[in-house]
Amino acid sequence: MYLDNIEIHGFKSFGDAVKLNIPHGITGVIGPNGSGKSNVADAIRWVLGEQSAKSLRGSKMEDIIFAGTSKRKSLGYAEVAMVIKNPNKIMSIDYSDVVIKRRIYRSGESEYFINGSQCRLKDIQELFMDTGVGKEGYSIIGQGQIDRVLSSKPEERRTLFEEAAGIYKYKVRRLEAEKK
Ligand code: ATP
Ligand code: MG
Repeated sequence: MYLDNIEIHGFKSFGDAVKLNIPHGITGVIGPNGSGKSNVADAIRWVLGEQSAKSLRGSKMEDIIFAGTSKRKSLGYAEVAMVIKNPNKIMSIDYSDVVIKRRIYRSGESEYFINGSQCRLKDIQELFMDTGVGKEGYSIIGQGQIDRVLSSKPEERRTLFEEAAGIYKYKVRRLEAEKK
């Protein structure tokens, strides 16, 4: 599976809709300070279900909606859609192009979609569980994360290995079943 493209509209500095195609190989994002490079990484984490405004460098979730500039009005909502190619069905869904979309309004409510159908945040989390992708996955290594892994408690570190081994979803299901 790999990221094919990402469409961002109204998210942070992206007042205009943009589509970023991610070619095969290594992609670098370059630009002057404050031009929105980190905002692209934030958009990817957000569409995967990030719930913490602080880890997206804001104080409340509404802060991620385009706030306007001297020349442009602010927007009422933000939307990020990500297309993931799933040729070998690593994600357990019967599509080879998987489109994950999240939208948020100024009221604070988020809507999630998988291939155009509205779904729950939980459905998105389950889709990515054990793929290494996702908010807690290791495919996004944030600043300071290596230090956190090295200095974390053994139980916390174990989650990383469980995700890599593909058994994390069974653990989550067992814990859910035990709660019932
Ligand atoms: P650096 O090289 O310093 O790391 P960068 O390219 O990573 O810079 P970002 O942090 O991605 O830059 O972008 C910061 C810019 O995003 C700032 O100019 C900030 O004003 C803008 N920004 C953040 N949130 C919003 C918002 N809600 N509406 C409009 N602009 C926003
Ligand atoms: Mg940056």
